[in-house]
Amino acid sequence: MRSFEQRIETLGLAARHEQDCGAERGAERLAGGVYHSVAAGRRVSLLKVLQSTHCSGQCHYCAIRASRDVARAALSPDEMARHFLDLRRAGVVEGLFLSSGIHGRPDRAMERMIATAEVVRRSGFRGYVHLKILPGTSDAAVERAVTLADRVSVNLEAPTDAALARLSPGKQLEGQILGPLRSAARIARQQGKRAAVTTQFVVGAAGETDAELLGRATALYDERLVSRCYFSPFAPPADGPFAGMTPAPRLRMVRLYQADWLLRYYGFSLREIPLGPAGLLDQYSDPKTVWARGHPAEFPVEVNRAARAELLRVPGIGPAGADRIVRARRSARVRSPGDLGSLGVRWRVAAPYLTFDGRRFRSSVAQPELPGIEPRAGS
Ligand code: SF4
Repeated sequence: MRSFEQRIETLGLAARHEQDCGAERGAERLAGGVYHSVAAGRRVSLLKVLQSTHCSGQCHYCAIRASRDVARAALSPDEMARHFLDLRRAGVVEGLFLSSGIHGRPDRAMERMIATAEVVRRSGFRGYVHLKILPGTSDAAVERAVTLADRVSVNLEAPTDAALARLSPGKQLEGQILGPLRSAARIARQQGKRAAVTTQFVVGAAGETDAELLGRATALYDERLVSRCYFSPFAPPADGPFAGMTPAPRLRMVRLYQADWLLRYYGFSLREIPLGPAGLLDQYSDPKTVWARGHPAEFPVEVNRAARAELLRVPGIGPAGADRIVRARRSARVRSPGDLGSLGVRWRVAAPYLTFDGRRFRSSVAQPELPGIEPRAGS
């Protein structure tokens, strides 16, 4: 029998690819399933674990798929809830993220996660709880999970059926995954929970293109099924059909998140996202700069007159920067790149695309936008 510490270590390690909380970068894993990440400039501590690593699934990218000879672990709902509440009382974590392998019926695994969340809520904990909704979960279990949690996620993993078949033989997008996702979104809306449902894709294992990923993301946003898509880079497992494959480059996630932000916050449509002939984003430049270079007729933009939507098309100006420019213009002219800098805008990037009361500052050293895993709204 493995000790409690060994089991919780196994359960925490297995959750390392799950993404949450709008974190700008991958979370740092500490001992015992505790993860630190940074979201909106604030450090967030979560107990992020699987309830069980027993699984009858055969997803090729997964370290705990059924055919792998790995140490398995599980905690009962009471054990998991007690561990979380102890960590919470000690001030080690602020919230709980719970997922699970699926051994047998999905509802059985779901029941154990739900039972954990119920114990946690009964204890009086009103803080953050995120429950993963497993493929094939019934509507009744989805409803209980949404009711208990602040956030639920249903991972599509792949943007198309064909890509999913390459990743996870036996899983189907329609019904098994999109069914629970639609139920979760509907129930979350009925309960008035905003930003409650998210999803995640594994990127780089199934030959999926960025066009397919962004197309699926757009469809999910348009249908109001998710508030957010996460892109998780494929890392090849040590054995199995995907062993020896090339890991997904981190820069691909950077470009996908940048394009995702253009779709969600910058007013770009999917057709405007610049994709190469192979359906991939340019890895060397951020997608807004690529779009701007391809649309010289749209520039320069007069910084003292442009509408917010036009400012958002300028490389280096994000939603927060555009808002600051619009506010500042009410009381003073924006006369130079230096004025932009004092508004927190990346003026070296933006200035070549702007005029300042008709003047251009071509001598500004235009620097490429630096990649960050999550472009900040305030840039
Ligand atoms: S169902 Fe989930 S836990 Fe099981 S092999 Fe697939 S990804 Fe891994």
